[in-house]
Amino acid sequence: MLLEPFNPLSCWNSGGLVGQNYSESMAFPNWLIILTWESIFETGICFEVKDGLVTADGMLRQEPDAMQTATQLYAGHQTGLLAAAGWSSHAFVPVLDFPSEPDRQMELQKIFERYPPETGDEFQFNFVRSVLEDREVASSTFLSFPAQCNLHADFFTKDLQPGNFITIGTIQVHPVSSGSFHISSPDPVAAPIIDPRYLSHPLDVEIMAWCLQFIEKIAETEPLKSLLKPGGKRNHPTAYMEDLEAARDYARTTASTSFHPVSTCAMLPREKGGVVNERLIVYGTTNLRVVNASVMVIIPRGNIQSSVYAIAERAADTKVGFKRSENCAFGL
Ligand SMILES: Cc1cc2nc3c(=O)[nH]c(=O)nc-3n(C[C@H](O)[C@H](O)[C@H](O)COP(=O)(O)OP(=O)(O)OC[C@H]3O[C@@H](n4cnc5c(N)ncnc54)[C@H](O)[C@@H]3O)c2cc1C
Repeated sequence: MLLEPFNPLSCWNSGGLVGQNYSESMAFPNWLIILTWESIFETGICFEVKDGLVTADGMLRQEPDAMQTATQLYAGHQTGLLAAAGWSSHAFVPVLDFPSEPDRQMELQKIFERYPPETGDEFQFNFVRSVLEDREVASSTFLSFPAQCNLHADFFTKDLQPGNFITIGTIQVHPVSSGSFHISSPDPVAAPIIDPRYLSHPLDVEIMAWCLQFIEKIAETEPLKSLLKPGGKRNHPTAYMEDLEAARDYARTTASTSFHPVSTCAMLPREKGGVVNERLIVYGTTNLRVVNASVMVIIPRGNIQSSVYAIAERAADTKVGFKRSENCAFGL
């Protein structure tokens, strides 16, 4: 009812690309729901560790002994697995600079030439290209998790194997693939149409495959190597990156979102598909603002929550902020 007078199915023709660029990011700026979409993807490989090493697998399998030990350690000493973070280490690495991996510069160039940007995608494409081609700028993340993940299940703690594992994950921090997020009906409670188009650009599959192959190198490197069981189990029979094709297939089967969607109400000039101006006002309106992750044009390289807070702080700033009488769609 609220949306009806505005003919939402016309996608709020403000001149911008509302709902496009879901880079794990989306958005249609209606007054009640602001969603976003250009997003990063992650995958990884789980390696069985040597006997005697304690991991979080017992807790993930909800084994009574493991739960009791963790509870006692936390209650008595505020330590143990209940006091630990999930992902326990992060490294940000340029993909052209993986030690002891082949130099991929020529391959990267060939892929860029073979798959030029489509009209309207140039901004994101050129940005991602500039990051990937720079040996000084991080374009992938590697992280570790002290347990196995079932990357073939719809939830990664489902149907876990016996044994103790460590997972080395990888995230592609600036993908080329982007999707869309649009309302489907004037009914405000009707489900939106979300098309994330994850890994739809061949470059993203290739980068993930390179990163997966690099995980094999990390696992063969000391001191981590000595913690892993020689010939130990992995999370899946396909979790061996013997060649690039195997790594590509594994990436396609296992990669999933890292939950950092942005960019569907991008703060860009209108003629470049922007939805809000530098004061967060939706083009074509005088006082409707969007204050959430959807205004980000590209995904921040690290975790994005602090950037969301920065946008909110900026909106609250009196110079850029809004008067009480103005409308504002808050995502915070
Ligand atoms: C599982 C998961 C893990 C994450 N982990 C991290 C992390 O470790 N680090 C990090 O930096 N980021 C993380 N993120 C991303 C981060 O949480 C988001 O980027 C951030 O919360 C986005 O903020 P937002 O304000 O744009 O949207 P949101 O935080 O989603 O806020 C939207 C708000 O709008 C409200 N809302 C929705 N519909 C309506 C409606 N019809 N009427 C009124 N209100 C409505 C919602 O209730 C919600 O409060 C994670 C996200 C997820 C999902």
